[in-house]
Amino acid sequence: MKLKFNINSNVVKSKNNLEIARKYHHYDNVESIHVTANEDVYHIAAVVSVFNHPQKCSLDIKDNQVISYECSCPFNDQDSMCGHLGAVILKLNELEINELPFDYQSDKLQKIKEIEKENQRQRRKAQLRQMASMSTKLIDFNKSQYQTDLRLSINQEKYDLTPNVYLNGDEIVLEYKIGNEKKYVLKNIADFIERIQNQENYKYGKALEFCEIKGNETI
Ligand SMILES: [Zn+2]
Repeated sequence: MKLKFNINSNVVKSKNNLEIARKYHHYDNVESIHVTANEDVYHIAAVVSVFNHPQKCSLDIKDNQVISYECSCPFNDQDSMCGHLGAVILKLNELEINELPFDYQSDKLQKIKEIEKENQRQRRKAQLRQMASMSTKLIDFNKSQYQTDLRLSINQEKYDLTPNVYLNGDEIVLEYKIGNEKKYVLKNIADFIERIQNQENYKYGKALEFCEIKGNETI
C-alpha cells in the first residue's frame, strides 16, 4: 500500500493557531505520530513537544477530511483546532505511509541528547584544563620549597627536580623530572621517596646514577 495524506491546512480555522502550527512544524516539535485505520477512517494519535512539554492530541480523517479532533490544550475548541493539531497535519502531509499501523518518530530528541552530551564533555574538559592550570600555578609557587626539601647531589652537585602538570585526555597528570641538562622522568614519586629513605642506588639514565640519601646538606 502507499498512502499519502493531503489535508488542506486551512482546516485550522484560527489564523493565530495556524501561525503557531507552522512554527511548531518548522521547529520539528511533532515528536511522534501513530496512524491506524478502521475501514476508511484513519485514526492519528500524536505527541507534540513544545519547550519540553509533551502534549498528546488525536484526530480522525476520512477522504482527506478531518472528521473529529481532540487536544486538551486551551487553544483547541469547537471553532478551531489548536497549533498542536495543525502541526500534526502539516507533518502528516509530508509522510509516505507504506503499511499500517504506521509510526513516525522525530530524531530531534536524540539530537538534543547528543548535543547535551557533547556540551557536558566540553564543560568537563574546560574544568580539567582549569584544574591543571591551577595545579601548575600552585606547584610553581611551591617549587622552591620542593627543591629545598628534596635536594639531591653527587659530589656536592645539585640536581633539579621539576614538577610538571599536564592534561592527558580526561586525566590530570603530575610528573616529576630529575636531572640538570638532561631530565629523566620519575615514573613513580612514591618509589623515589622510598629509595631515598632506604638509601638505594638507582640508575635513571646514562648520565644520572646516584645513591639517594635521606638527610641534610651533605647528601
Ligand atoms: Zn493543542
